[in-house]
Amino acid sequence: MSSVLSLARPDILQLQPYQHATWDPSLERMHANEMPWRAQGDNTVAGLNRYPEPQPRALVERMARLYDVPGERVLVGRGSDEAIDLLVRAFCRAGQDSVVITPPTFGFYKVAARIQGASVTEVPLLRPGFALDAPAVIEAGRRAKIVFLCSPNNPTGNLLDEGLMLQVCRELASHALVCVDEAYAEFAGRPSLTTRLDELPNLVVLRTLSKAYALAGARLGTLIAGEDIVGLLKRIIPPYAIPASTVEEVLALTETPQRAMAVARIEALLAERAKMQQCLQRMPVVAQVFPSDANFLLVEFRAARRALEAGRSAGLLVRDFSAAPGLENCLRISVGTPEQNERLLAALEAL
Ligand code: PMP
Repeated sequence: MSSVLSLARPDILQLQPYQHATWDPSLERMHANEMPWRAQGDNTVAGLNRYPEPQPRALVERMARLYDVPGERVLVGRGSDEAIDLLVRAFCRAGQDSVVITPPTFGFYKVAARIQGASVTEVPLLRPGFALDAPAVIEAGRRAKIVFLCSPNNPTGNLLDEGLMLQVCRELASHALVCVDEAYAEFAGRPSLTTRLDELPNLVVLRTLSKAYALAGARLGTLIAGEDIVGLLKRIIPPYAIPASTVEEVLALTETPQRAMAVARIEALLAERAKMQQCLQRMPVVAQVFPSDANFLLVEFRAARRALEAGRSAGLLVRDFSAAPGLENCLRISVGTPEQNERLLAALEAL
């Protein structure tokens, strides 16, 4: 057993995985209690009367190419949310183990841990700049099973220092997994930490099609890690996790022309982000706009509630973070279309 697997729950290492129906497209299926006919109007290629391939090979290969990693390092799931859930389930014993998070950060790490009965140690990001407190994370990580780092971080928008993340990974090599969530990486333009997987067996990287690839509704996230970790998670992912329709849609919508379009859209979004940043900064109702490497802006208003209401009355929802510790009066604004952005800015201007 690799040393990183020795961090996993012993009962999960012992678990006899669910045996799904054999996947052999060369044979006709009379082994999975499916209906032999399609539902009326089912125009999918595979036929939705059939269970999908458990880790669809074509999809795994497509994600491996997209993220420039070997297929053996890829696990596909229903959004990166599923990957987060699987990691916590596989590595944290209920009532005994813990994870480290660095608030303010993505909320699901904590929720996934709590659902599993794991405790959560919070090591807040440091102001100004929401920087990683590496010594404190390392200290806490020695007593934890997983450290979640989010870069660019949601909701603050900033990248975490790469050197510090690598240091955390190295220092915790025999203590904890370090899961670097790169959901917003495409907006930041910095190379992924996946290039470091060879040297860092406890590193796990999360990517998603939900943001830059405009496929949030398809629910497709990719976990990239050493083969041992991927192999373990394959044993506990629910059977047939990825719907056949998602497989077909994602394969069709991540071809070369769509990828070129995604690049163009990212450019357009970054231009809009810069414009919004400038306009917001000049507004008297705005206390500060935090720098962003993602597709949203964290904005501190003088009175967040009034700004929120102004958005609503213009038909626009933005996310209220004003109750989060350290984010008083802060709203998170996802960059929209030029028209939506103009409408929001006009509503705020009118305050
Ligand atoms: N990680 C971060 C940092 C996110 O902000 C989100 C979604 N808001 C997710 C993961 C979940 O993404 P997915 O749609 O891939 O489940």
